[in-house]
Amino acid sequence: MMRQTRVIVNTPSGIDMTELTPITVARGDGIGPEIMDATLRVLQAAGARIAPEFIDIGEQQYLAGHSSGIPPQAWESLRRTKVFLKAPITTPQGGGFKSLNVTIRKTLGLYANVRPCVSYAPFVRTLHPKMNLVIVRENEEDLYAGIEHRQTDEVFQCLKLITRPGCEKIVRYAFDYARRHGRKKVTCMTKDNIMKMTDGLFHRVFDEVAREYPDIETEHLIIDIGAARLATRPERFDVIVTPNLYGDILSDIAAELTGSVGLAPSANIGDHVAMFEAIHGSAPDIAGKGVANPSGLLLAAVLMLVHIGQPAVAETIHNAWLRTIEDGVHTAELHGSLSIGRPFGSMDFADAVIDRLGQVPEKLPAVRYAHEAPASTGAAAAPALAPRPSGRAAKAMVGVDVFVHGAGISADFLAGQLSALVTPPFTLQMITNRGVKVWPGGFPETFCTDHWRCRFVAPDGQTVTHADIIGLLQALTARGVDVIKTENLCTFDGERGYALGQGQ
Ligand code: NAD
Repeated sequence: MMRQTRVIVNTPSGIDMTELTPITVARGDGIGPEIMDATLRVLQAAGARIAPEFIDIGEQQYLAGHSSGIPPQAWESLRRTKVFLKAPITTPQGGGFKSLNVTIRKTLGLYANVRPCVSYAPFVRTLHPKMNLVIVRENEEDLYAGIEHRQTDEVFQCLKLITRPGCEKIVRYAFDYARRHGRKKVTCMTKDNIMKMTDGLFHRVFDEVAREYPDIETEHLIIDIGAARLATRPERFDVIVTPNLYGDILSDIAAELTGSVGLAPSANIGDHVAMFEAIHGSAPDIAGKGVANPSGLLLAAVLMLVHIGQPAVAETIHNAWLRTIEDGVHTAELHGSLSIGRPFGSMDFADAVIDRLGQVPEKLPAVRYAHEAPASTGAAAAPALAPRPSGRAAKAMVGVDVFVHGAGISADFLAGQLSALVTPPFTLQMITNRGVKVWPGGFPETFCTDHWRCRFVAPDGQTVTHADIIGLLQALTARGVDVIKTENLCTFDGERGYALGQGQ
């Protein structure tokens, strides 16, 4: 059930209701309600001009039979307000439950996951006191498309999909973010030395878009050395942009390096809707005790205020929060030698931030949002950041990869069988097993599974038709060859649209 009546934030006195920005709020599970109430209390005291609408999502909704934890009526609020402040939710144990976050991101097209990771040394213990970076992770594509298949007894497959519009959107978002926030450098991380087509596209688009931002320094690192440098020298990074999976891993490493999981916010930005949340979960181990740190959610709300065009309020809250931290007002998990008194509970911490509204930090650097340029994406999407239309290339089909399930056979045996069955205009060019060429000229040492990729091509310069491929498949399957799937081999404007083989 949607609860729209439970308004915690009162209308700031003297403010016309029409000036308030409606936002959708979920109080979540576990520590969610405690940290959301603390956060909304600070927003109200700071004069945030928002009108929250509350929706119920999470554990109770999962248990009520909504497999992704969100009831149909909650979507209506999200689509209307287009701004979502979300507390963490609990995913029930056991199978059959879909990730709420993945569902929301994909359904609402939240393509950019933005996570600022900042050290607050010496007030928060960390090995990296000078860290101040932002990870911009692509949020919809890559291995997260959820297209997985079991193909043989031994082999399972997950499709990695990278699109040109998807790359353009996330890379432009990262450069635009850097420019708006006065950041100097954008680092791209991929594994394009191995995945030359998918990660290669991401890298190529990064180089193309970089030319539109000559004021921003750029670099590209292979993800393995990039992750190692992030873990050992995070202070050398400013903005990092990556495909989905690498960004998922990197952003947790980076948040952990700052010293506490309770501090980091994240924003999920789309062309129509944006969602703001802490990075941590519902912390059932401390739920109900009033001790959780509300900072991650409060800083997420700061990102939200900038997003909805209230940067001055965001700046006031963020600077008061920094002052609170450096004054030694700490929740239990941060408590240390620089803390004052006993650990503060969630609400007492919120009150301490409220006491400091209007103050700025004395030792930590103050933030400035008040004069920030509005986002060119998200709620205020500008055509400048939209992906450029890509023209249609001249596409020609020149062959087909046929994937075959064959247990207990050798590559030479399979090649003999296929060569006897092949139909014109094809010839069998090669067979690979897990990407390693095993025919012609395979090595007896190569370990083979029951999953064979058999490449059939037309003579040089000749194209093939779908009817040719169907004819080939009919000939193979009629003689018992167990075809799993096919991939067409095409050229685009004369350029090869498929990998030649491992490492090529
Ligand atoms: P968690 O982040 O909830 O907790 C990990 C540890 O960090 C715990 O010891 C916890 O006490 C501590 N912690 C987390 N937030 C804190 C805070 N604000 N203040 C002080 N300490 C804090 O991770 P988990 O235990 O792996 O997951 C618990 C539940 O949360 C699971 O059901 C999981 O699915 C869910 N989860 C939800 C989200 C989300 O809604 N975005 C994200 C991650 C996990």
